[in-house]
Amino acid sequence: MKLHPEELALSRVHTRDLPFEGLTDDQLKRFESRALQLYEWFEGHPYTHNAIGVLVLCFLFGADYWVLFHLSRWLLPGGVTHSSGSVLLAAALCGSLHSYVMYSMAIFSVHEAFTHRVLFQRIGPMSRFLHRVASHLCRIAGVEPNFYSVHHVAHHEKFGTEEDGELLNFVRPRRYWLTWLPLATLYTDFACHRPPTYTKSRVLTAVVAIAFHLMCGYFLYEAFGLLFPLIAFVVCFPHVGFYLDRARQFTEHNLMPLENRNGARSFGLGFWGMFLGGGPWGTPCHLEHHLVPQVPWYHQLMLHGHLRSLLTPRQREQFLVQPVIGWPKLWLKLLREHSRIERDLRSHGSLKPEY
Ligand SMILES: [Zn+2]
Repeated sequence: MKLHPEELALSRVHTRDLPFEGLTDDQLKRFESRALQLYEWFEGHPYTHNAIGVLVLCFLFGADYWVLFHLSRWLLPGGVTHSSGSVLLAAALCGSLHSYVMYSMAIFSVHEAFTHRVLFQRIGPMSRFLHRVASHLCRIAGVEPNFYSVHHVAHHEKFGTEEDGELLNFVRPRRYWLTWLPLATLYTDFACHRPPTYTKSRVLTAVVAIAFHLMCGYFLYEAFGLLFPLIAFVVCFPHVGFYLDRARQFTEHNLMPLENRNGARSFGLGFWGMFLGGGPWGTPCHLEHHLVPQVPWYHQLMLHGHLRSLLTPRQREQFLVQPVIGWPKLWLKLLREHSRIERDLRSHGSLKPEY
């Protein structure tokens, strides 16, 4: 993701005097002690852990197959002529669900397997093979893992600095709105899933993604005609999952302190956490993930309950969102707050002239 130096400068000024109740050393110690217990379980149960990884991948590809080839046939039964309107609606529904499932699979693959290397514990030839395969499955969904991984690791290790590979603490709404343009996934600079230029690896990703969709598209074309795969794969697939991903990254860190300990929110185990992250492996408990990135997704969820119990009411307001209406309120607040903050910083002379 491209770093915008002016956003980092604005974030530094904004957070300098930000009234914020951060986590205390004692809270962090108690949290880390529980995380260590879970990590020891993870290390001690490689077969159970690897079996969970296989089940999740089977679930994701099974769900995608069901959406594309069973749900579509249920919506458009054979032996009957369907109007273009019904084909369009069925294709839009199946294409959107396919996009969501692919987004979910891609996060699981590129984040959990390729980057943090916790999807499979490599204890033998079979698990090493599974790790390699799982690490590259994200390419089917158009995600290039090498670029993502380098920048994501820098995001964890150099959080809130010039070297943060995904600086998200001050994302101006304009950059977010531009991701709503058609096919913005291919050209916006507010994206982390592929490099800005066509490297060899990005071309490989494009070839894999196009080949997969041509293959599925052929069967859908045979069954329903050209309109169905065009709507599902050209209109819905490149947008639905991407919009969720952008909404997630626009709200996870925006306007939070520039330090790893206090710099992330957790959307939690409710609807928004699951929806925006593409499922429970999409880091809905994002603060916990930043505090201990070594544990797998299901331990992040377990740590969420523990962290909640340690937080003061004020900290809960800062780090968590209310059920149901909490995330939409946060999204609207961020859209409103940015222009006010920039205006205030300018009028108080806190910003250098070039900003
Ligand atoms: Zn991570």
